[in-house]
Amino acid sequence: MSPPPGLPAHQNTSADVIVVGAGLAGLVATAELVDAGKRVLLVDQEPAASLGGQAWWSFGGLFLIDSPEQRRMGVSDSLDLARQDWFASAAFDRTEDYWPTRWAEAYLNFAAGEKRAWLRERGIKFFPVVGWAERGGYTALQHGNSVPRFHIVWGTGPAILEPFIARVRDGVRAGLVTALHGHRVDELLLDGGSVSGVRGSRLVPSGTGRGEASGREVAGEFELRASAVIVTSGGIGGNHDLVRAQWPARLGTAPKSLLSGVPAHVDGRMLQITETAGARLINGDRMWHYTEGIVNYDPVWDKHGIRILPGPSSLWLDATGTRLPAPLFPGFDTLGTLEHLMKTGHEHSWFVLTQKIIEKEFALSGSEQNPDLTGKDLGLLAKRITPGAPGPVEQFKKRGVDFVVADTLPELLAGMQARSPEVRIDAAQVEREIVARDRELDNDFSKDAQINAIRQARHYRGDRLIRVASPHKLLDRANGPLIAVKLHLLTRKSLGGIETDLSARALGTDGQPVPGLYAAGEAAGFGGGGMHGYRSLEGTFLGGCLFSGRTAGRAVASAV
Ligand SMILES: Cc1cc2nc3c(=O)[nH]c(=O)nc-3n(C[C@H](O)[C@H](O)[C@H](O)COP(=O)(O)OP(=O)(O)OC[C@H]3O[C@@H](n4cnc5c(N)ncnc54)[C@H](O)[C@@H]3O)c2cc1C
Repeated sequence: MSPPPGLPAHQNTSADVIVVGAGLAGLVATAELVDAGKRVLLVDQEPAASLGGQAWWSFGGLFLIDSPEQRRMGVSDSLDLARQDWFASAAFDRTEDYWPTRWAEAYLNFAAGEKRAWLRERGIKFFPVVGWAERGGYTALQHGNSVPRFHIVWGTGPAILEPFIARVRDGVRAGLVTALHGHRVDELLLDGGSVSGVRGSRLVPSGTGRGEASGREVAGEFELRASAVIVTSGGIGGNHDLVRAQWPARLGTAPKSLLSGVPAHVDGRMLQITETAGARLINGDRMWHYTEGIVNYDPVWDKHGIRILPGPSSLWLDATGTRLPAPLFPGFDTLGTLEHLMKTGHEHSWFVLTQKIIEKEFALSGSEQNPDLTGKDLGLLAKRITPGAPGPVEQFKKRGVDFVVADTLPELLAGMQARSPEVRIDAAQVEREIVARDRELDNDFSKDAQINAIRQARHYRGDRLIRVASPHKLLDRANGPLIAVKLHLLTRKSLGGIETDLSARALGTDGQPVPGLYAAGEAAGFGGGGMHGYRSLEGTFLGGCLFSGRTAGRAVASAV
């Protein structure tokens, strides 16, 4: 799969609008501005090869409410149900949540309303089986999706970017857009209290490939002027120092060891620059990091980790071998699991599973890990329902440092212990857990909440078809071999950011708009400075970039 080529660069130094960041949010905003006939300077610190930012790497999961795909799969969803789920997960509880709450409402209406049609008009299509992320497992007014809502874009992340890149290219051809790659913004320029431009460094071209760390050597300076600046610079997940500095006490002490689920350019640097220009940053302690990270055996960026998107059947053990409590099952409650693990005093954990489970339940997040969906390859896709794990999963099983494969439990435990010599695994306890868990399968009823959740999940056609293995005994050799996967903490999304009103205007510490300054995408907490509150329902980040990028583009188009 070849990356989309970058946009040609010109040398204009003034325009109607400057957009800082050519990720999804910046591209959507620019496309809107092109539609309105505005002149745009699109500035990005990365080389053209990385056009599209994180979205290119993404799995392309989108949150939609009451879609035809859901209905075809027998799912009855509604705006009321989704709102109930969203607000239960967000748990807004701060005065700073005024605008995030309003953005959440607006986004829910978008996701239940025009979102799908708007994307379809742009040629974006969906895989027919809707996934069920963040299942929660609590009660109706607590965290989680009551129903499957994770819609996978046919073609994954690159296919989401495609129509917006095409529209921006139209703008380049029409002389409306000037794309400046390898241009890092270091300062927002103020003129009588209004943001009137940017100043920054031209970086020495480094010729690096997509996602690879590009050089930071400075070749010269640049200064650009416009009537408005939109900041779409992404979050902080690639900057582990910042992640640790903003780590909330409620999630324990900041982790010592982290994998990066995002490229290094997700450095958070522009947030500070935007604050210096007068914008208010809120909810910086709200972040969305995963607990199911594995080390990439073929890394593109430093500490490159991949997230396992797990089905619900793997047995989840902490570093010592103690089973995680209900409902912290795979795919149920990302931050609840993170909070629990941080309290155990150890950062890593383990999945214990069978060959039968890995074949049906392991998916890896990322466009490059899903060549069938990304390449729209039906032949390859058919292999998801035939025996054997998907190719990329099989590769990790063979080559990944975190995988242990064994025929017997003692061998498996020895392999696990060898991979974490610093923490003693209580082998007898693990065996007791697994034997007890397997014994619960002798009846159609059980007191084990995970067994019950697996059975319940299989009532959903989508899960039964491609996502949830039929319940089986882990120690029955017919289902083997046994597999253990060492799981690491993996950084990904920032839920907080630049506070914005419903027109994507950046707000200052006095709550008033900073004239000329707008923000969208992850830099703006996907809208308002944190429309997710504390937790996400998943698939809401790309959608948040689409919605806030579009809002910013339209607002600026009518203001300048
Ligand atoms: C592997 C992976 C899988 C994912 N899967 C999903 C999914 O299935 N569903 C979902 O909803 N979300 C998913 N996400 C999250 C989603 O992709 C991101 O939240 C979203 O793409 C962020 O877009 P953005 O435009 O806000 O920021 P980015 O994509 O980070 O783009 C910001 C751009 O700004 C540039 N920039 C930053 N600072 C400066 C500066 N000072 N000067 C100039 N340029 C600057 C950067 O170089 C970058 O190009 C995934 C992310 C990853 C990495």
